[in-house]
Amino acid sequence: MVVRWAVLLSVFFAAASFCCVKALSTAPSHEFQEVRPKLWRYNGEFAFIPSPAARTPVAVWLIEVKSAWIMIDAGAASPEYSEPFLKALKQKLSTSNNPLRLIMLTHGHVDHAGLLPWALDEYPDVSFAVHEAEVPFITGGKQYQHLKGDTWTFALGKWYMPAMNSSLPVSRQIVLKGSSGDVANSVSWMPKGLLTFHHAPGHSPGQIFFVHHSTKSVVTGDVITNMATSFPFSRKSDPACDNPFAMPTHMWSDMKASQRILAGVSGIETYFPSHDDDAGVSVAAFKAFAGNQHDEL
Ligand SMILES: [Zn+2]
Repeated sequence: MVVRWAVLLSVFFAAASFCCVKALSTAPSHEFQEVRPKLWRYNGEFAFIPSPAARTPVAVWLIEVKSAWIMIDAGAASPEYSEPFLKALKQKLSTSNNPLRLIMLTHGHVDHAGLLPWALDEYPDVSFAVHEAEVPFITGGKQYQHLKGDTWTFALGKWYMPAMNSSLPVSRQIVLKGSSGDVANSVSWMPKGLLTFHHAPGHSPGQIFFVHHSTKSVVTGDVITNMATSFPFSRKSDPACDNPFAMPTHMWSDMKASQRILAGVSGIETYFPSHDDDAGVSVAAFKAFAGNQHDEL
């Protein structure tokens, strides 16, 4: 009986995922684009389920400072994502003599950290920075399936999350601690005041978002998304600021609290979600979303 219900729920879940899938409204450029001065974004496509209709935009970021490149997130480990991304990354890094020295993870899900093992092999001098609450899933041998959540979508959806390499080398790990801080406090060569991290749990235990101060931008990770929605046989809507995917979000209540943390950061002009069909979310659009979510936010 239990098995039958599990199978039925799984079929329903898969069908719902397929029908309500978010899709790219524009074709990806397959190159890093400077969305703000010294802040480049690569927007690739990743399919959570094997269907061409299920393509999701996934961003990776590059920031160049005096002596180095810094990357935020590492891209998705799937052929349709990785091949054009790796080409674009090598091309972009070759435009200066500076080495890639640091990869900072918003969180460790497959679409954001899937290519981190490749990057660590390819760039032996690169370190990676993660929040202390995400460490168990990066170097501690723990899987996201081990988490207990507060929604039925995660209770079911976590079994669809692919197992990750969660035993990456501790020697190359930089741990960001606490609720927020200047990343330069943990990375000696990084200019002070370049990037501040904020702990924003819920979508994953150690998710962080980054404030890029010189451009008044936030790289939000999956605290919010900004995608077009496509339903079968209907026109795609415009991209809209929204919640993250429910399936991998283990604590919905914490995630809503993290959106409040994001809303509380002052002086921001643009929010750049990892899953974004557009060129970021304006303050007005984020406020409208936050306003619509008033009861929850
Ligand atoms: Zn995620």
